[in-house]
Amino acid sequence: MKDRMTPRLRPRRLTGPQDLVETGLVEPGRLDELEAVARRYAIGLTPALAELVEPGDPADPIARQFVPDPRELIRDPAERDDPIGDDAMSPIKGLVHRYPDRVLIKLVAVCAVYCRFCFRRERVGPGSGSLSEADFAAALDYVGAHPEIWEVILTGGDPLTLSPRRIAAATGALAAIDHVKVMRWHTRMPVAAPEQVTRGIARALMAEGKTTVVAVHANHPRELTKSARDACRRLMAEGAMLVSQSVLLKGVNDDAETLIDLMRAFVEAGVKPYYLHHADLAPGTAHWRVPVARGQELMRALRARLSGLATPAYMLDIPGGHGKAPIGPQWIRRGEDGTHAVTDPRGSEHIYADRLGSGE
Ligand code: SF4
Repeated sequence: MKDRMTPRLRPRRLTGPQDLVETGLVEPGRLDELEAVARRYAIGLTPALAELVEPGDPADPIARQFVPDPRELIRDPAERDDPIGDDAMSPIKGLVHRYPDRVLIKLVAVCAVYCRFCFRRERVGPGSGSLSEADFAAALDYVGAHPEIWEVILTGGDPLTLSPRRIAAATGALAAIDHVKVMRWHTRMPVAAPEQVTRGIARALMAEGKTTVVAVHANHPRELTKSARDACRRLMAEGAMLVSQSVLLKGVNDDAETLIDLMRAFVEAGVKPYYLHHADLAPGTAHWRVPVARGQELMRALRARLSGLATPAYMLDIPGGHGKAPIGPQWIRRGEDGTHAVTDPRGSEHIYADRLGSGE
């Protein structure tokens, strides 16, 4: 690679408060308050997602995710610039090594859309640094020198904003490292700009003898349009395994019906529901978070009504870089007599006792 990773975002994206006003997504009287937020955090909304917004609905769950809100400038004392502690786990620029068998490489710092709740909101945006040729070469050297690294997660920003040529170059370089068996790409592009998830992009993600996983980020069932599902099909057609990522967001998906529809929409698109994230302690995002107890209640509702295939894990990235933990409701508790009380999907408890063979 000769120069920096440069994204290939196309025109017609909405990138500032004036764009949002001109397209009717925001009342003109709100321009000043949006400008104040825009001076702090990036704005980006693609045509594919802007088209999904219901005009005149101030609570529209698509618009809410991308239209700035003055509450973003209110910082809770517990919120952090680096909420999941990437920096403390970063031995070299652009690479995070938190778990023994996998690393994360941040290829770019730009996205097609800028989510108002983004956990890396202090680091992403136009003008933010992307990985240089030298930095990427250093990341490859690091991965090559650590034979315990089995999986490499490519993220950012959104790495699928890169050209097929850049993606293929990154894929090829990682695939050449024998002990790397899995490459996982984190992206919002299948819903944000499905037309840009071309067959060429899908091919660029694949490498002979390696497993490619694409983690698709969507938070509301309306995001999984026919175009988005077609983009997922193109990825699958080239051999990618697809899993989902969503964030539990107040006013967007914090009700059982929406979450059930979202998880079913993922499965229908060929995407296995994987993680439902509790919203991180990113600056100015308190208005997005719901109590953990509410998240657990919703997970109980999902468990009661969805198959295991459609049920994600509810996860918290423990602030400070301590890693992810599943925080969903418990379905089993140990009784004093050594038996277990197990809860069924309807909420009734049943006793289960271990029955073990002799001599074990
Ligand atoms: S696409 Fe991902 S990295 Fe980009 S703003 Fe949204 S959450 Fe953040």
